[in-house]
Amino acid sequence: MVDTTNSWLLSRVSARLITALLGGGLGWWFGTHIGYPATTSVFVGAAAVLSLTVFDTLKGYKLLDWLRTPEAETPNLPGLWGEVGHRIYRVLRNKDMQLAEEQRRLQQFLSAIQASPNGLLLLDENEHITWISDAAADHFGLDPVRDLRQRVTNLIRQPAFVQYLQSRDYKDPVKCLMPRGMQGFISVQARRYGDGQTLILSQDITERERADNMRRDFVANVSHEIRTPLTVLSGFIETLASLPLTEVERTKVIGLMSQQADRMQTLVADLLTLAQIEGSPRPASDRWTPIASLMRRLQVDAEGLSRGRHPLTFTIDSQGREVELAGVESEWISAMGNLVSNAIRYTPDGGSVDVRWACLPEGGGEFSVRDGGIGIEAEHIPRLTERFYRVDSSRSRGTGGTGLGLSIVKHVVQRHGGEMRITSEPGRGSTFSIQVPAARVKAH
Ligand code: ADP
Repeated sequence: MVDTTNSWLLSRVSARLITALLGGGLGWWFGTHIGYPATTSVFVGAAAVLSLTVFDTLKGYKLLDWLRTPEAETPNLPGLWGEVGHRIYRVLRNKDMQLAEEQRRLQQFLSAIQASPNGLLLLDENEHITWISDAAADHFGLDPVRDLRQRVTNLIRQPAFVQYLQSRDYKDPVKCLMPRGMQGFISVQARRYGDGQTLILSQDITERERADNMRRDFVANVSHEIRTPLTVLSGFIETLASLPLTEVERTKVIGLMSQQADRMQTLVADLLTLAQIEGSPRPASDRWTPIASLMRRLQVDAEGLSRGRHPLTFTIDSQGREVELAGVESEWISAMGNLVSNAIRYTPDGGSVDVRWACLPEGGGEFSVRDGGIGIEAEHIPRLTERFYRVDSSRSRGTGGTGLGLSIVKHVVQRHGGEMRITSEPGRGSTFSIQVPAARVKAH
């Protein structure tokens, strides 16, 4: 360092000496030609040339100072230094613009990746994290800043993930659990790129897994529900074919067979209703059905089902106005009818069933069915609308239930923008209600 400084000083001093000598020579030649004394000419020449170079060097230093702090204003220098400064400024400005453009593009690219619901994790050749997208941070429970440069397997310790990464066989994705507390699944796929770096893609497959499970459960439940009456039916057919029965026995067996056939028919009808509701478009909001006619139909069906075993009341509370309901009439009938038939089926003889429509002061209305029946324990209530969920299977089957009624109700209500509410007390009865939004109720 000292050597370098010394040699730099030496070269500067010798450069100045040479300049002074040259200036002196020039001054002597010119001064003596025009009659000045030689010493004065040499001195003036050397001084003039030296001051010119010092002035020039000062300009150079000014430029150098600016280059050291390029954010400062460009020095306004005359002559050659000015031109050099200007050119340097232009080159730097172009580079700055290019850099800004590159950064803008990189930012856009990163924003596009961040906008994706799929996660992206970049690892270097030592499996240290170099970049984490927000979705990946969510999927793996990582911190996009704090966890950078950490070894990925120190942070994601799930055996399935660690084994997958170490296997180096990334043809197929692997299913992993989301971090604790999130209760979901992600599909993880790795890919190699560059010089041994790894890209890890993650996708939230919780919904897909749930739908798959539901489909599997549904198929298993349907098969089970159909197999049971079929087994009973084929047993009776065998009995009829192989045993000589009396007329009374024959009538009894045929009665039981017809009960099982009815059960299968109801199940198929409920399944079809569900499939139809799921497959049809959102119900129109300009098809109106009078509440009075809906209530009349519900009453006729309820009286047929109860056959005088329950005191039934049907009330419309609308301050004397005609009320109409928008949507698909058959779906409303199916939803309301299911609630009424449940109330009758789960209320012992003598228990009352009150069906009521009320216009709400804030707009909209409420259809409710209150029974004095067996009631439902609180822990079952959130699961009642699941397909085939029954609190007591034998009781449900015994009363001709399929376990699909409330899931049909929930579907219909949701499709019409409404809400279903259930309150119940075991041994005292239940109230099932449908809240209908103001947009689907017209009172006049
Ligand atoms: P199901 O065809 O078995 O009646 P639902 O889906 O209509 O099927 O009802 C699901 C379960 O909810 C029934 O099995 C029954 O246990 C319970 N449930 C429904 N309505 C009532 C009610 N009004 N009182 C008591 N329990 C009820």
